[in-house]
Amino acid sequence: MTDLLSKFDPLIAERQALLDTGVRDPFSIVMDEVKSPTLAVIKGKETILLGTYNYMGMTFDPDVIQAGKDALDNFGSGTTGSRVLNGTYQGHKECEEALKAFYGTEHAMVFSTGYQANLGMMSTLAGKGEYIILDADSHASIYDGCALGNAEIVRFRHNSVEDLDKRLGRLPAEAGKLVVLEGVYSMVGDIAPLKEMVAVAKKHGAMILCDEAHGMGFFGANGRGVFEEAGVEKDVDFVVGTFSKSVGTVGGFCVSNHPKFEVLRLVCRPYVFTASLPPSVVATAAASIRKLMHAGAKRQHLWENSRRLHGGLRALGFTLGTETPQSAIIAVMLPDQEQAVGMWAALLELGLYVNMARPPATPAGTFLLRCSLCAEHSAEQVEQILGMFAAAGRAVGVIPPAV
Ligand code: PMP
Repeated sequence: MTDLLSKFDPLIAERQALLDTGVRDPFSIVMDEVKSPTLAVIKGKETILLGTYNYMGMTFDPDVIQAGKDALDNFGSGTTGSRVLNGTYQGHKECEEALKAFYGTEHAMVFSTGYQANLGMMSTLAGKGEYIILDADSHASIYDGCALGNAEIVRFRHNSVEDLDKRLGRLPAEAGKLVVLEGVYSMVGDIAPLKEMVAVAKKHGAMILCDEAHGMGFFGANGRGVFEEAGVEKDVDFVVGTFSKSVGTVGGFCVSNHPKFEVLRLVCRPYVFTASLPPSVVATAAASIRKLMHAGAKRQHLWENSRRLHGGLRALGFTLGTETPQSAIIAVMLPDQEQAVGMWAALLELGLYVNMARPPATPAGTFLLRCSLCAEHSAEQVEQILGMFAAAGRAVGVIPPAV
């Protein structure tokens, strides 16, 4: 018998070599207790969370929690069925109504995760003989959705309007085309030049899908995402998003004004062939989405946090992924795995959790510590975080010693 897992031996060896240095494993952290959107207990130590997608801090919102409890009491723990059979409850429809109100669209379709929303949209919208044109740094769920479908895949250089134009120009004029963009790219936290990209896509007659996973909640006048802030709402045909970030639970969606959108419920396999979300989850999502429509003060505070952390880390001498704070994600760039893991572990010892990210998740072989801010981080917590970065950075030798 050939051991099918032997192909992973190099990865097992690399991981073991890292653990043999005595460092804690960045990929097996357990939250023993979660006290708030910004505080948890990890191995007995109270730890500030700076590596979650809880941008708007909705996970402990009392109205959200109450909505979930009520749904659990009234509708049970799960639907045990697909959306197209027994798995659509009143709560799923209410959640879709909340999304339509939030985005101001005619249609909304709730999937079980954002990953599945992208799997579904990529594999269903563009078929044989048609084209998906995507940014090289697209999220794994976008790539996987392409792999599930039959369209031709064309990649363009990350955030390059010129390369997008060039590649679209080489495709047959009459062929169906879907340009896939993300508002915020989640590894480095940079945003897409959507205005320019949308104009180029339109010029070539392509339809446009924008993934606003990391933009929902705090970009644009209504918190719809970067596409709202860029003023291209009318030109984006499909917006994909997730409940696992600003909304604070789990689930995915696509919203659209396309008149034939509803047919997708019948043909989109990652929508049809999986169980629908539990009633408590759609109830928490709907309550959260409705509150996010009136979260201007929180939004403003999140941006203040982002500016404060970006400016502070820069002043300490860290190399950051973006010149300016562009989103709620701030990436601290490190030269190699050793420094990245060293910094990550030193921060954890001090009581700060950030995400360690490495290839293949990161672009071009980079190692980085991803810091993601929450609207519930206080100004004092951001100061504390900067103090921890200063201490860890000096101890590991990433920044020069204090003078
Ligand atoms: N799109 C992007 C850009 C993402 O970053 C993610 C998750 N990190 C997803 C989609 C998938 O979302 P979910 O967690 O709901 O599966």
